[in-house]
Amino acid sequence: MTNQRPIKTVGDVVAQHLCTSCGACAGVCPEEAVGMALTRFGILAPVIDHDRCTICGLCVQVCPGHSFDFVAQHNRIHGTLPEHVALGPCLEVYTGYTRDEEILRVSQSGGAVSTILLFCIEKGLIDGAVVTRWQKEKPLVAETYIARTREAVLAATGSKYNPVAAAESLRTLLATPGRFAFVGTSCQIQAMRKAELIYPELSDKIALYLGLHCLGVFTYHFHGQVLHKVGLGHEQVAYFRQRDKVWRGWPCDMRIVDKQGRVFDIDAKQSRLDPRSFFTAWRCQLCFDKANEFCDLSFGDCRIASMHALHARNGHDLLKGLSEFVVRTERARGIIGQLIGGDRMVLEPADSDAIARSIGVAGKKLGLNTFPSVARMFRLGIPAYGVRFAVAGKRHSRRSRLAALWDVIASAYWCYVYLLLQYGWFRRAVMRIPHAWIWSFTRRSGRRVEWVEHGADSRLRMVSENRWEGDGSGGFSE
Ligand SMILES: Cc1cc2nc3c(=O)[nH]c(=O)nc-3n(C[C@H](O)[C@H](O)[C@H](O)COP(=O)(O)OP(=O)(O)OC[C@H]3O[C@@H](n4cnc5c(N)ncnc54)[C@H](O)[C@@H]3O)c2cc1C
Ligand code: SF4
Ligand code: SF4
Repeated sequence: MTNQRPIKTVGDVVAQHLCTSCGACAGVCPEEAVGMALTRFGILAPVIDHDRCTICGLCVQVCPGHSFDFVAQHNRIHGTLPEHVALGPCLEVYTGYTRDEEILRVSQSGGAVSTILLFCIEKGLIDGAVVTRWQKEKPLVAETYIARTREAVLAATGSKYNPVAAAESLRTLLATPGRFAFVGTSCQIQAMRKAELIYPELSDKIALYLGLHCLGVFTYHFHGQVLHKVGLGHEQVAYFRQRDKVWRGWPCDMRIVDKQGRVFDIDAKQSRLDPRSFFTAWRCQLCFDKANEFCDLSFGDCRIASMHALHARNGHDLLKGLSEFVVRTERARGIIGQLIGGDRMVLEPADSDAIARSIGVAGKKLGLNTFPSVARMFRLGIPAYGVRFAVAGKRHSRRSRLAALWDVIASAYWCYVYLLLQYGWFRRAVMRIPHAWIWSFTRRSGRRVEWVEHGADSRLRMVSENRWEGDGSGGFSE
């Protein structure tokens, strides 16, 4: 896959709707000529001060939005291409939760990320961790910072499902002595991995990458929508959490508290699942990396029924949350080795194929056989990864052709909605539509993931049997 139009500046990345909002371009610029601002499409994107810009090109080099060399980065970081094509590099997989009740209460899943961060800080393996919280004074604005204490780590618990410019922390990281962990989504970690090519000292400075499994983010238009539904203005919000355990426990509903102390608990279907088909950032559809392959340890919510049953049998209240995670590197394996059998976490080994199905990694990768055709139709950019994920089996049967046609139609829907939401009249119209109607249409394109659960779809089976098509050589251009 290559771009139709050349990328000369990060302005081109934004114009071709390829920006992931990671913030690396702002963090890398030596002249501090790049800032991040909200666009009319509801994402964060770079704004360049042309009086300061010296056209050094660092921002384009570090940007994962237009390209990421899948093969070269795997070879550099892991020494080889992953055996498990769907899941990525995988030494061990676990499900589990923290034994620290305070962390478990405020964390997103099983509190694995925060517990591991605190363990590493206490053991002196790192001096701090780059984490992201909603600002106290502005609870709808995310900020990324270095946490060095328990209080600072706990202030960042919970997932922020909107664009976050966490890689903007690059400048602070380079200027701060010490070794750190970096917590981020796949595109943020891809940005840091590209930055390591420019600043080799980063590879030592970031002692541990903790990656979040990531299906995609909601554009910030989503905030406008949900606040409208509960009758609040942005300025009235005192607390906002997309997924909060406090009402009905994990896997969580939304909680908003206004400045008068009124609490709004919103059912997950209304606040997260159905709205997804309106507010997903378009660039996320062109992303292959749901499982965060380029980190040391990747984390998500555990959705494996047999593991739920096992932990429940052992006395865990699932409403408190459960994590699953993939150990990808030796340095991560060393840390998990120290945690096993200790008093900080309950950990149970799991099956890598079950985790791959639970994350839905193959579905995201196979989306790259559809969404780029739609991008081409709309004259939008296509990221260059230098690799193609195979769809094997009876590809040319009537059924598979019809399924592919349906996928293109459903994918075009996601693109149309993303583009139209820039207009106030369309946003107002969307507020009147019951989200469930649209979701029942678009979720068809996700059926492939269900099929593999039942073992009936050859396309996904082939992917999880580690079949490659092309090795990425020759097709990649930076
Ligand atoms: C945008 C997004 C999409 C996700 N999609 C999925 C999914 O589809 N399936 C799935 O299983 N899991 C997904 N996750 C991961 C999941 O929601 C949890 O974050 C993960 O299981 C870790 O839970 P925990 O209890 O161990 O983390 P906690 O102990 O609660 O710590 C969470 C950590 O994540 C960091 N963080 C939160 N949001 C962001 C952000 N936007 N950018 C950078 N850092 C952040 C915080 O700094 C904190 O350190 C997603 C997370 C995000 C942010
Ligand atoms: S570096 Fe990140 S924020 Fe900057 S243009 Fe690229 S994807 Fe967007
Ligand atoms: S889906 Fe990919 S591009 Fe979108 S936020 Fe997640 S990691 Fe970034």
